[in-house]
Amino acid sequence: MLIVMKNNASAEQIHTVVGVVKEMGYDATPIPGGQRTAIGIIGNDGGISSDRLAGLEGVLELIPVTHPYKQVSREWQSENTVVSLPNGTKIGGSDLVLMAGPCSVENEREILDIAHRVKDVGATVLRGGAFKPRSSPYSFQGLGLQGLEFLARAREETGLAVVTEALDPDGVDLVVKYADIVQIGARNMQNYALLRRVGRAGKPVLLKRGISATIDELLLAAEYILAEGNPDVILCERGIRSFDTHTRNLFDLAAIPVVKSLSHLPIIADPSHGTGIRSKVTPMGRAAVAAGADGLIVEVHPNPPKAMSDGAQSLYPDQFTKLVDEVKVIARAIGRNFNPTLQ
Ligand code: PEP
Ligand code: MN
Repeated sequence: MLIVMKNNASAEQIHTVVGVVKEMGYDATPIPGGQRTAIGIIGNDGGISSDRLAGLEGVLELIPVTHPYKQVSREWQSENTVVSLPNGTKIGGSDLVLMAGPCSVENEREILDIAHRVKDVGATVLRGGAFKPRSSPYSFQGLGLQGLEFLARAREETGLAVVTEALDPDGVDLVVKYADIVQIGARNMQNYALLRRVGRAGKPVLLKRGISATIDELLLAAEYILAEGNPDVILCERGIRSFDTHTRNLFDLAAIPVVKSLSHLPIIADPSHGTGIRSKVTPMGRAAVAAGADGLIVEVHPNPPKAMSDGAQSLYPDQFTKLVDEVKVIARAIGRNFNPTLQ
């Protein structure tokens, strides 16, 4: 439930309402807004007797939150959440944000090279896995700490922010030291211990949709992170498992506008994992931007046939340049900016 206060409600009235909610055995979070303050009630599984609350001084109306998730919902917060990174990138506002880089960090020279190339065409965030969640235990598992060090070096040289994955709760502290955004991969979307841990990490989180997750399950996973006190969650549509074998995953384009209406959190699209096929990444990247995605995360490799993971879906740098040129036009046509200026 949300308690909306009148726009002239005093601090004392807000304080009294919070006190009454707590007396009733729930938690209350005041949410200051541009016009008026709302107070969110957490901890109730079912209905709350609203008579007592409706009669308090300064209360305008009571709005039941109709979804199982609360803090991530648009009812809870109508304005978009904008996640700010130290290099000036803002995700969820009017800018279209581009994140790009290899699936895995493979060596220093290559990550530096690709970082410069994607930056030159307008990416502001460098992606690259140092800890890789692989379907087979015999596949390349990532360079670990050394990979994180190479990413940090690339950030120093280019000013790009870094997004990289944490695989388990014990690994979060190390990743947080090096990353600007901690990625939670599709396979871990419902790893609640990990979600709680990144909820306390003090860094933005990129939460990728689970391989068979519904949109509500994605939003509930994000709720775990917000419930621990971290508001900076970026959602990511990366395709879901389907019966068709022509693409690696079924890229759920409609999830983008659906999430936008249900939640105030930013959502970006990953057409690389979403399709698994290089030639399909650009059309789906264009479509995702047209559908309202706040950004794209794209796998780009200097020599995809030699990539240690996900080469088949990695773009050549020139293909990424072309994709950026095209999505710039689409972004502008729907009123978004594309102005990367790194601090
Ligand atoms: C990745 O980003 O390289 C990755 C493993 O993604 P996902 O978790 O979406 O499969
Ligand atoms: Mn990958």
